Order: sequence, then structure tokens, then C-alpha cells
Amino acid sequence: MRFIFLLLSLCFAFHFGFGQRVCLTDTREVKSLSLTPELGLRDTLSDEVIMIPVVVHVLYNNSAQNISDAQVMSQLIVLNEDFRMQNSDAASVPDYFKSFAADTRIQFCLAKVDPQGRPTSGIVRRYTYREFFLGDDGMKYTAAGGDDTWDNRRYLNIWVCNLFGRSLGYSTLPGSQPDRDGVVINWDAFGTIGTARAPFNKGRTTTHEVAHWMGLKHIWGDQTCGSDDVDDTPQQETFNFNCPSFPHVSSCSPNTYGDMFMNFMDLTNDDCMKMFTQGQKAKMRSVFAINGARNNFLQSFACDSTNSTAGPIPDGGPLPEPEPEVTLSLKVYPNPFVQTLKIEATNDVNPAGKTVVILDIYGRIMYKSILAHPVTIIQPSNLQRGIYVLRVGEGKSALTFKIVKQ
Ligand SMILES: [Zn+2]
Repeated sequence: MRFIFLLLSLCFAFHFGFGQRVCLTDTREVKSLSLTPELGLRDTLSDEVIMIPVVVHVLYNNSAQNISDAQVMSQLIVLNEDFRMQNSDAASVPDYFKSFAADTRIQFCLAKVDPQGRPTSGIVRRYTYREFFLGDDGMKYTAAGGDDTWDNRRYLNIWVCNLFGRSLGYSTLPGSQPDRDGVVINWDAFGTIGTARAPFNKGRTTTHEVAHWMGLKHIWGDQTCGSDDVDDTPQQETFNFNCPSFPHVSSCSPNTYGDMFMNFMDLTNDDCMKMFTQGQKAKMRSVFAINGARNNFLQSFACDSTNSTAGPIPDGGPLPEPEPEVTLSLKVYPNPFVQTLKIEATNDVNPAGKTVVILDIYGRIMYKSILAHPVTIIQPSNLQRGIYVLRVGEGKSALTFKIVKQ
């Protein structure tokens, strides 16, 4: 069914004139898919900033397609601006819609730690013998000329490659098959410099597709006057291309302000789309909550290079022998404590840069900080009396202590 739809979409693509956005993501069958997270330990805290480690797989058949690190970075900047409502063009959202606009408090980093725990740039480059890829996910498999997915519970995978036709990109939805999970973007619609081509050179194709990855539908619900399951986006008859002038009223507009065509989930040009709504924010953040398909991202610390455990990835050749492991050793006192806690190294290993978190008995993070010195004093003033777990570091090398607040 999906394959047939993709074929139809590809055919459909040829009927559009040049310069129109084509998104292959099929959101018509979105269910509120929930997976029981294997490692799920905690729920999102109210409005906490959710960090998403990103790996960009650059697949190139010629040198032009091997886009620069700077071009990749330009895309990361756009993602962070758009999801944090720091995009300068948010100021030009029509006044009526401004009150609906949201800072989603979701951020992105290029991964600093790879799935094996090694330092990484978060960019994987691979030559491919394929001159183009179809929307059949071949780019997600090394054996098919692509590059294998990194653990989709901890990384947002983005493949940048040459997509057949003029489709700009597509995404999987929350709860999809793990080894296909991620976002695919055409190499000339990624970032804001280098090979990015107008009118899709403001990085908004990726903003749009990443929002699909977090469960958002197209704003018209992929049906005539359909629903996107978000309450504060006005119903609209169908998609908009290029950039309509405001207001653009259609047959099912609820009022004279018409379509929210400046929403990232319409199909307008990059310099026309500018906002998510509060409702879209809530929907996207819900996939990270307990029982949400992407809950495990709350335990992903791949944005923090101090969690890497081995040397850098070599350019070919065998992996280097791992460094002999020196173990961090700490004491935490006084315990029980009233206001302040000391975290002190008891050997020569400096814990500076390690993440320290305090979890309540439900596994919710109540306090988070970074150790700065061999001895760090913390003051977790928001804790009620009770028993907590203090954890320093991540993964197998994490140290945990039971602490009691009096
Ligand atoms: Zn789309």
C-alpha cells in the first residue's frame, strides 16, 4: 500500500510545475502509535528542553553531492531556530496568527558520540554507486548503496542524497520500522548554502520533515478540508504552493483570516513558512512522553561528548586498541543532606564535564547539572524531603548513589 502510494506520489510529482514543493510523507494513515519504550525511565518534565542528537548520512555519487560540513551546520542552525521560534522571519507572521506561534523547546545537535560510544562529528560520508534513490528507503541500507541507520531510539537519522524526480524529501512517522526510521532530504534542498537551491534554500524542507518525524500531519490533513488532529491550526481546503498573500481564504476557512499558510506544515516556499502552533508543539512533545514512541530520546546523551568512551573513528583501517580504562571514583556527602551536597573525586580522575542528575523514585529527572571541578557543591533546592538517586555520567560507566533529603 505504502509502495503504491509512493509510486503515485512520484508520478504526481511530474504534474507539478517547477519550483513547487513535493513532500512524499504519507500522513493519511497516522495512528497515535505508542510503543512501550524498552528503556523508558521517565516522563518529560514540564516544558524542559528536549535535546535530539542528529546523525547526517551524506550519500554522494559525485563530488558536488558530497556537501560540506558547513552546509550541514547551516541546516542544524535552521532546525534550532525554527523549533525554538528564534527564526528572524517569525516577526513577519500576520498579527492574528502570532498568538498561536510556539517555541517547541526541542533542540538538535550533531551527535558527539556514535552508537559504539566513540567520538563523532555526527556526519557520515559515503560514496554510493547509485545515481539516484527512490522513495523506497534504499538510502537506509549500506547493502543497497545507502548507509545503515544508527540506533533510532537515540538518534534522529537524516540521509542527504539524490532523490529521483523533484521530491524534496520524506520522513517516517513515530512507531515505524526501526531500521527505516528517519528523514530523507534531497541534496539540493538541505541547509542554506552550497548546493541548496532557491526557493528551497532556507532549510525548511528539513524543518517540515523532522516535524513529520515527530508525528505532525500536513496542515490540511491530506484531504480536502481534512484535519491534522491539531486544534489551533485552522481548517483549510488544501495545500498552498509558492507564497499566497495574506489572507488566503478557502472554502472551509473558519474566519476571514483564512489559511495558516505560513505554518511549516503547509507546502509553501521556504521563505514563506515561519511557525509551529502551540497545538503542534504539544503533539510533537507527546511522542517523547512515557509511552510515546520516542520516549527513549530522554535518555539519549549523545549530544554530550564527555560520554564518549574511546578514541576517534579512524579513516579506514582497523580500530585502535581502546585506552586502558581509568575508573571514576566519587563520594557524595553529607548524606542525608539538608541543602547542599558535595560531590568529590576520590582518585586522580577528574569528573569535570560529567553530567550529574538527581532522579526521584519514579525515575523523573528533578535536577541536572554538569560537574565543573574535582569537588563540586550542588544545591538541589527544589527537592522535597525523601529518597532520590544521584547519577553521575551515563551508560555503563555511570555512578549512582542513593541520597536522602531531610
Ligand atoms: Zn510533508
